[in-house]
Amino acid sequence: MTRARMPRPHEVDAARRDPRLLRAVDERGLDPAWRTRGACQAVDPETFFPAPSEPADAAVALCRTCDVQGACLAWALEVGDCHGVWGATTPRERRAMLVAWRAENGTADRPAEPLMLPLIRLIAPPRRSVELAPVGARP
Ligand code: SF4
Repeated sequence: MTRARMPRPHEVDAARRDPRLLRAVDERGLDPAWRTRGACQAVDPETFFPAPSEPADAAVALCRTCDVQGACLAWALEVGDCHGVWGATTPRERRAMLVAWRAENGTADRPAEPLMLPLIRLIAPPRRSVELAPVGARP
C-alpha cells in the first residue's frame, strides 16, 4: 500500500473555494437521515471504490445528481475517510478539503486520516460495513 502525499498549499487554497466543500459546510448536520436518500442506494458499491489506476468518473457523475451530496461529503470529512468517492469527490480531492475542513473546525492537529478506518475496512470490508456507509447499499 502506498502512502498518499500531503496536499500542497495551492491545492488546499483551491479546496477552500470549492463549491462542493462550501455546500458540505452549509449542509453538515442538517439531515441526519441523508443516508436513506442517496442516489447510490441501488448501485454496486464497487463503483465508488475504483482502483487507484481506474477513473472515478461514473461515481462522481452519479454523486452530482444526488440530493444529499453536501451531507455525504460533510460526513466523509468529519470521519476523515480518504478512500472511495463520497459527495462527488475523489480521495485526492478530499485530502486537500480535509486540511481546509479541519482548519475551519479547529481540529487541524488531527492526523490526515484516523488510524482506525483502514483497520475497520480490513476487518469488515466496505460492503458489510453498514456504519461506514452513506446509504444502505454502500459500504
Ligand atoms: S456517495 Fe454520497 S453523494 Fe454520492 S450518491 Fe451516494 S449518498 Fe449521494
